[in-house]
Amino acid sequence: MAQNDSTDFDLQYIKGIGPKRALVLSEYGINTLYDLINFFPRKYVDRSNIVDLNALIPEQEVTVIGKIEAAGVRRMRRQIFYIVISDGKGLLEAVWFNSINYFKKIFKIGEWVSLSGKVSYYRGFQLVHPDYDRLGQGEIDNLFNTGKILPFYPGSDVFKRAGINSHIFRKVFYHIIQNDDLMRFSEFFPDLLLSKRNFLNRTEAYRQIHNPDSNDLLDKAVYRFKYEDFYYLQLMFALQRAHLKSKPAGISFINKSERLARLYNNLPFKMTEAQKRVVKEIRNDMKQSSPMNRLLQGDVGSGKTLVAIMAMLIALDNGYQAALMVPTEILAEQHFLNISKLLQPLNVKVSLLTGSTKAKQRNQLKEELNLNQPHIVIGTHALIQDTVGFGKLGLAVIDEQHRFGVAQRGRLSEKGSNPDILVMTATPIPRTLALTVYGSLDVSIIDEMPPDRKSITTVWRFDNKADKIYEFIRERLKAGQQAYIVYPLVEESEKLDLKAAAEGCEFLSKNPFKDFRVGLMHGRMKADEKEETMKLFVKNKIHILVSTTVIEVGVDVANATIMLIEHAERFGLSQLHQLRGRIGRGEKKSYCILKTPYNIGDISQQRIKIMTETQDGFIIAEKDLKLRGWGDLFGVKQSGMPDFRLANPIFDRTILEQAREDAFEIVQSDPLLRKAEHQGLNNYMQKHFKERMNLINIS
Ligand code: ADP
Ligand code: MG
Repeated sequence: MAQNDSTDFDLQYIKGIGPKRALVLSEYGINTLYDLINFFPRKYVDRSNIVDLNALIPEQEVTVIGKIEAAGVRRMRRQIFYIVISDGKGLLEAVWFNSINYFKKIFKIGEWVSLSGKVSYYRGFQLVHPDYDRLGQGEIDNLFNTGKILPFYPGSDVFKRAGINSHIFRKVFYHIIQNDDLMRFSEFFPDLLLSKRNFLNRTEAYRQIHNPDSNDLLDKAVYRFKYEDFYYLQLMFALQRAHLKSKPAGISFINKSERLARLYNNLPFKMTEAQKRVVKEIRNDMKQSSPMNRLLQGDVGSGKTLVAIMAMLIALDNGYQAALMVPTEILAEQHFLNISKLLQPLNVKVSLLTGSTKAKQRNQLKEELNLNQPHIVIGTHALIQDTVGFGKLGLAVIDEQHRFGVAQRGRLSEKGSNPDILVMTATPIPRTLALTVYGSLDVSIIDEMPPDRKSITTVWRFDNKADKIYEFIRERLKAGQQAYIVYPLVEESEKLDLKAAAEGCEFLSKNPFKDFRVGLMHGRMKADEKEETMKLFVKNKIHILVSTTVIEVGVDVANATIMLIEHAERFGLSQLHQLRGRIGRGEKKSYCILKTPYNIGDISQQRIKIMTETQDGFIIAEKDLKLRGWGDLFGVKQSGMPDFRLANPIFDRTILEQAREDAFEIVQSDPLLRKAEHQGLNNYMQKHFKERMNLINIS
């Protein structure tokens, strides 16, 4: 039987489309029936949820429907565009304060509209700037008389210019789903899965998503498509894993690491249980012949570096080299100093390679790395330059991995022959999301902080409280403690920021803190200047470090107990969390002050509130995701993540877990998807995820 998952059918021959519209659709990326049927509504209006206009209650969020009875411009203190709608039971006014000419053009008396917004009261009920959808004239009978659920499709400029709106999409889809020849989509889920999850069959699900018969059926269709979104991805992860595991090209680090034991026995503190567990997981992976691909998640200050050091010692004691790549020079330098010190008694060769390593040193280091000798090298992007070669790279560790692109991470691992890979991140993400974003990696989590950490009190203050804040900071400084004062970095203009931070520094050192030493650090300083400043701060020769976000990662000064963040509203949540992680590192109580102007946006307010409520990086990351959307955070397109039609890994985690469980189960029972009952699935994946499936290399 012919199936319609392909390019077979020329869209222009579908009723309601024609050659012109087909062209517009193709401009939007809809070229085939398959593309079109997977273009889903963005929302639905259901008659049963519509509030009658005589039953409105102030402050309620509502969707209403009515016919436009009047429309025009009123001049109050400023111009207002208004419409009055009626549904036969009552009247309601909606107003807009801007884009007046535009609204004048689009709203026509006699047409039906649906409006959504909060009911307010101003000489009668009103909606101010409601969301609106124009319903045209004919369809409304349909909605009212048959109780249909009306789908609304995503608009785009391309569509608007061509006059393609939801109304037209509804007509087109109505024709498609009436046509049995078109509505023939092969079922690729095996029967067992269909009954396990009680799915609508595929064709029926498409029917219901575009033209729902009831809320219940719509929910079922939505469920199936969300599940599908996750399933494809998890299936590929499962296949990738099965494939990787069966390719024993990596290194087995079987020797016990004598240096690791010595380090462990001489630590100045006790490792947390979480650290021990994670080291064990890594050690196990490293023993295997297949290359380790592990993500280590742990909140700021949870002690990931030590774990990385231990992994590197394992590589070393097996005769290999290990590299640690970090995103900034200052962090590389700090790691280098700390690690060298820690490993001094163990007789390990530790080197530093950054952009500012002098040519002579660099050349010597390159020669040494080319030799086949155990060696730990710590560095920045400088490590992945073409001219750097490793004689025997066994382990590549990438710290703060979110700061690197996929390609950069790959390049480091290509410096060896299938070395083990450990990527570390202090931007923890919830498990389900990790499964989506890093599904082919194994994940270790340090979910416990060292016990000596004091909690940090975080407060939000407006700019008019500056004097009080300075007074508070002075008191701490007099007691011998230190402070960070952070200015935001605006990406468009590094110069301006610098100006803000430099002027801030100037003002602070002359006025509220004239009795103290104030140092300035910013991204444009040379590495040795930064290091010099940092050293002075470490020695408490500088009492206040004014900086842009360059101190964001890694820096460790236990005596710094205060962080004042200027214009905190300009920072992202995870940035704020990272910054705050610089304090609370010692015995003394720490304070983080988030300072903002009085008037800041809604989302900024929420971010700042979250910071004052919790210190748990996992919770913060999750809330951040909810505020920002996960696609935004991970740059869905550029990271090669599929663009989900409906699924959202944050809100739909139960479905994600189900899809993952089922996908891994199938691959376990049939790693090449060769069984008859999996043939459909295999074909479907080969067809629609060709590139990725080729990488996995099954057919
Ligand atoms: P992060 O996970 O943010 O990279 P680090 O590895 O930089 O954290 O560790 C932060 C600080 O905590 C370092 O000074 C480190 O020496 C110290 N540390 C690590 N593990 C422990 C522990 N188990 N107990 C006490 N301090 C620890
Ligand atoms: Mg770290």
